[in-house]
Amino acid sequence: MKYTEVMVRYGELSTKGKNRKDFIGRLAGNVTKVLRDYPQIEIHPKHDRMHIVLNGAPFEEVDQHLKKVFGIQTYSPTIKVEKTLEAIEETALALMKETFKKGMTFKVNTRRSDHHFTYDTNELNLMLGDYLFEHMADLKVEMKHPDLVLRVEVRQDAVYISNQLLHGAGGMPVGTGGRAVMMLSGGIDSPVASYLALKRGVDIEMVHFYSPPYTTEKALNKAKELTGILANYAGRINFIAVPFAEIQETIKEKVPEGYLMTVQRRFMLRLADQIRAKRKDLAIFNGESVGQVASQTLESMTAINDVTTTPVLRPVATMDKTEIIRLAEKIGTFDLSIQPFEDCCTIFAPPRPKTKPRLDKAREFEARLDVEGLIERAMAGIKVTPIYPDEKFLANKAAEDTALL
Ligand code: ATP
Ligand code: MG
Repeated sequence: MKYTEVMVRYGELSTKGKNRKDFIGRLAGNVTKVLRDYPQIEIHPKHDRMHIVLNGAPFEEVDQHLKKVFGIQTYSPTIKVEKTLEAIEETALALMKETFKKGMTFKVNTRRSDHHFTYDTNELNLMLGDYLFEHMADLKVEMKHPDLVLRVEVRQDAVYISNQLLHGAGGMPVGTGGRAVMMLSGGIDSPVASYLALKRGVDIEMVHFYSPPYTTEKALNKAKELTGILANYAGRINFIAVPFAEIQETIKEKVPEGYLMTVQRRFMLRLADQIRAKRKDLAIFNGESVGQVASQTLESMTAINDVTTTPVLRPVATMDKTEIIRLAEKIGTFDLSIQPFEDCCTIFAPPRPKTKPRLDKAREFEARLDVEGLIERAMAGIKVTPIYPDEKFLANKAAEDTALL
């Protein structure tokens, strides 16, 4: 069927006036962003729903984008028809024929905002039901839990018919929760944490530490490509690359092995916080999960978190690895995350990091370093790149590599 519109129902919407306006305005902006390749589409955000007029754009393609937009509870592709019984019957039948399978139950559900229309909702329900029974075999009506609901809406300008109710991504429109920095590695956890932050409406900018020449261009590109996958949920995400080699070399030289990891993490968090402040972002997110590795025990978090009072949010803190992996598969980051390009932390990881580092010791060892100078030089080397949905960084690189052979 050639759908003409999509009707969008809002998600968890705070009912207060200004918030509601902000929610709807952001959502409309975000939908516009993900549908930018279809200039013919019109978006009409209303108080209770949003109408997307397709003007010939194929629903199947639009659907691929819409299902990733946070703030949408459910949506239905609909067909606009003239306000005559014949037109309604004809389209209703065509839609039913397309979606109905033997053994399914259905019901007709009519609403009308045009109270001058020739038939009221009961009459329309009955007449349409009868018409469908006449023209289709094996139909069965079920009022409480039907498999299919044929929705007919009689409005002032036309009648709108749909028979699918699709689930949206839920959550809140990206941007309604302000903006934060996200510490993104190339691993499994931080992309999932990114997705969860976006889902709560927080716009994010990625902060990624890399250590050339100890880490490869591929590791950096992997983090960028992960950002490209996540940009599907945000429209666009800034990727901030921070050079980290000098800090790691210095720490390795001056800090006892048991505290290498703790001091490195303190530097990462300091840098993330400086970038946050510079860009007027509100919080820091990361992909830590309690107890997963030595740096993620509560003792470690205490020794690391000491460098800032900015809120550090950890969306996957209480999730099991298997739960995180399941989400990573669902959002499409898993296959890329398990590609073995080592990032800066694996290269300088001590064989036996302390699982219970002491805060006073961490401070004491760190005091041997020129903290300010190291931070200043790293900050001077940051590079910001805006990344768009599904932008690729590894494929190009592979093509270049083969070209060189
Ligand atoms: P992930 O799967 O996200 O890499 P992990 O379980 O491997 O997490 P760690 O490597 O200890 O755990 O990292 C913990 C968190 O620290 C990461 O989730 C991420 O938020 C941050 N982090 C680690 N390495 C980097 C990096 N190179 N750049 C930016 N953030 C990082
Ligand atoms: Mg990691």
